[in-house]
Amino acid sequence: MPQNILDISQANATLSSYKSRDGLSVEALLDEQLSGGLTYNDFLILPGYIDFPAHMASLESKITKNITLKTPFMSSPMDTVTETDMAISMALLGGIGIIHHNCSAEEQADMVRKVKKFENGFIVDPIVLSPDHTVADVKAIKERSGFCGIPITATGKLNGKLVGIVTARDIQFHSDDSSALKEIMTTDLVVAKKGVTLTEANEILKTSKKGKLPIVDEEGNLVSLLARSDLLKNQSYPLASKAPDSKQLLCGAAVGTRPDDRERLALLVDAGLDVVVLDSSQGNSIYQLEMIRWIKQTYPKLDVIAGNVVTREQAANLIEAGADGLRIGMGSGSICITQEVMAAGRPQATAVYRVSEFAARFGVPTIADGGIGNVGHIVKAVALGASAVMMGGMLAGTTESPGEYFYHEGQRLKRYRGMGSIDAMNNKGGKDGNAATKRYFSEGDTVKVAQGVVGNVIDKGSIRKFVPYLITGIQHSLQDIGHKSIVDFQQAVREGVVRFEKRTASAQLEGGVHGLHSFEKKLFS
Ligand code: GDP
Ligand code: GDP
Ligand code: 5GP
Repeated sequence: MPQNILDISQANATLSSYKSRDGLSVEALLDEQLSGGLTYNDFLILPGYIDFPAHMASLESKITKNITLKTPFMSSPMDTVTETDMAISMALLGGIGIIHHNCSAEEQADMVRKVKKFENGFIVDPIVLSPDHTVADVKAIKERSGFCGIPITATGKLNGKLVGIVTARDIQFHSDDSSALKEIMTTDLVVAKKGVTLTEANEILKTSKKGKLPIVDEEGNLVSLLARSDLLKNQSYPLASKAPDSKQLLCGAAVGTRPDDRERLALLVDAGLDVVVLDSSQGNSIYQLEMIRWIKQTYPKLDVIAGNVVTREQAANLIEAGADGLRIGMGSGSICITQEVMAAGRPQATAVYRVSEFAARFGVPTIADGGIGNVGHIVKAVALGASAVMMGGMLAGTTESPGEYFYHEGQRLKRYRGMGSIDAMNNKGGKDGNAATKRYFSEGDTVKVAQGVVGNVIDKGSIRKFVPYLITGIQHSLQDIGHKSIVDFQQAVREGVVRFEKRTASAQLEGGVHGLHSFEKKLFS
């Protein structure tokens, strides 16, 4: 070793005289002949060299061939995890929510539509009324859709002549619901002409200090609408996952692979769906292959995430059929008993590595689904080649997850259940049958074999605080490992620059809190 430890070049020269780098390459780590299948807890990533502040680390990553998000987070299509609120918040925070299908097709499509309507650039299909509609009509729209800024046209339709606007302030203190809108609407309007760019229109909106900006053609007919609240949303959520032109939030939804799922998908696409997840616990089936081919033919622009898979052979079939992304995991979910009951599955770290390494050769991004329990697991999944993680248990128990909080032994809890639990499989699921039984191919069974449990999780507060914690945590982890982005990090793993170490059982004990009488584990503030 050099005398002067600050002499970095001399130290590096000494280091380069060693034949190999410290630690293990990813291939050596995942060598199953030597160490069997690994889980996230079985290894660590060795630290690298820090030359940038953590907040500079970019978490941008692909979830499918065509969709890139600013954060690699997806919420599971489970009926205790993702409905409208979760999907809106996930997209605002840079991830995406996948709406579950344990409900009727209409209910699911309605949830997708609400996510898509939540934020807009130009609202190209605004709700419009005529001067003869009444205050009661506006209140009904408010009740149903949550907004009440309504342009008024002579015909009561889009493309009719714009004659006024009614907003919240016009009806707030108006007690007579039967008044016609022509009596209360504002007629002195600031408008912009068709052809204006979004940036220009936003400027007019800012300087006019109005809440809405109607866009009209040469004849004064209404063609679209702009809302000031969308400018604020855009400012407050700079990472939001949005379609580039419409500025609407991205939304995913899950479907099964039966004939009636094609009708379900038609409704979802009509509602504006951006990506569909084929929800099956074992994705390598004739049903799924046929479904992928049919979707690619019928909706060539819709991205399809296929799965679940844990082996290269399963992945190969789905990739060949046209999958744009793969969901990896069988039996690793926190509520899951598949490995115990079916004797099928694979330890998740090995599954993620084997499938991702294979899929990458075909440019197909992968999603590590199940078993994510902390920030470190996310970083490890990404290190092993997953472009994104799907979380159920991590996001259950948040304000945005479906279900009511309740108290048990002094703790504030919410229910979280496996989609293969008896409880979920017994849910009627509307006229389209039960999504949970379809996921596990058990619609026809007289005896239902559970592959999941029903549990409770502790109140985690809002994901609007929790997801920023995950983001900051991952950025610090990338900083420790010495890579400025997920993309660079994954490349460095492939090139053998990022090194790993296996963890013995005692190393795992050492890495956890130990030797204390008691402690409080507060994860962020
Ligand atoms: P940015 O990264 O959000 O600035 O995306 P762009 O560069 O594509 O934005 C073009 C213009 O659209 C800018 O003036 C943005 O502020 C604006 N913009 C982005 N999202 C929205 C939105 O949801 N609604 C509205 N009205 N404007 C938006
Ligand atoms: P309002 O003042 O009650 O209309 O509500 P805000 O302007 O605060 O919020 C309206 C939100 O709903 C914005 O994010 C719009 O993009 C969205 N939105 C979606 N569709 C429509 C629509 O048809 N009309 C209006 N006014 N807003 C819509
Ligand atoms: P978690 O994030 O809670 O560890 O796992 C969530 C994932 O578990 C889901 O995205 C889904 O792939 C899987 N899953 C959901 N319900 C069940 C179930 O009942 N049984 C099994 N085997 N997996 C489930």
